[in-house]
Amino acid sequence: METSTDGTSTGGSSAEGSGVEGSGAGLPAGTRAAAPPASLSPSRASDFMQCPLLYRFRVIDRLPEKPSEAATRGTLVHAVLERLFDAPATERTAPRAKALIPGQWDRLRESKPEVVELFADDPEGERLARWLGEAEQLLERWFTLEDPTRLEPAERELFVEAELDSGLRLRGIIDRVDVAPTGEVRIVDYKTGKAPRPEYAEGALFQMKFYALVVWRLKRVVPRRLQLVYLGSGDVLTYDPVFADLERVERKLLALWEAISAATESGEWRPRPSKLCGWCDHQAVCPEFGGTPPPYPLPVRSPESG
Ligand code: SF4
Repeated sequence: METSTDGTSTGGSSAEGSGVEGSGAGLPAGTRAAAPPASLSPSRASDFMQCPLLYRFRVIDRLPEKPSEAATRGTLVHAVLERLFDAPATERTAPRAKALIPGQWDRLRESKPEVVELFADDPEGERLARWLGEAEQLLERWFTLEDPTRLEPAERELFVEAELDSGLRLRGIIDRVDVAPTGEVRIVDYKTGKAPRPEYAEGALFQMKFYALVVWRLKRVVPRRLQLVYLGSGDVLTYDPVFADLERVERKLLALWEAISAATESGEWRPRPSKLCGWCDHQAVCPEFGGTPPPYPLPVRSPESG
């Protein structure tokens, strides 16, 4: 899914819940160490690669983030695409997909009440109407890229989790899995943004190779094709992985895990500024923007504070 909409939470609970407390562990009194992550999702792995401090803010400090129109629209469009396949093949049309939007928007507001804030300053509903119209356009574009009347997904919004020999757990949610009569597997992910320029395609494919590795671990099948469908620009990016790709991505994930574990222990969560800082919710506590991060090691919470 779109950035940070894979719905997984990784490592945060273990970091929150099982820290080593106090001076007995060589820590200042009143502090506790964060635990290294027990699992990784593509989103959190990408966070660390983008900026280690961003990873810390999201996974260890668990700082709240405001919902964004783009990410929320992505969640809505994903929900519609998932539900559309409930209908018989011949009824999977663009009008039907658009008709699903109001109901899925209601469900999203129920499950994530914070998204209502997005349109709190829009009493006439003009911005909401425009935003919903943009979701319709993305869905219409999808019909120019794929033909759902000819697809019968084996899985939709599939939560997957697999453990590597090292003990690291990989987890995530795959938008769609197609299985051909021959048994060949295609992993499909929808993106509501635009396709990256060719020089950045490798970064986009990282998430897909991550999923391919998980599928291999679970089913001992190397997916035949990885497919990214960009509804924002109307592009489809495909890659046919080989086993060596999975070995490479496993090595990369283990190196990342070691780097995250080392940062957890040392407390050195370096900011890595880039143009992506413009989308970061944490500039106020980021040294690159004059802010001060929360204390680390983490303060021990009193029983009253929960
Ligand atoms: S503002 Fe930039 S450098 Fe700072 S935490 Fe966010 S992504 Fe990292």
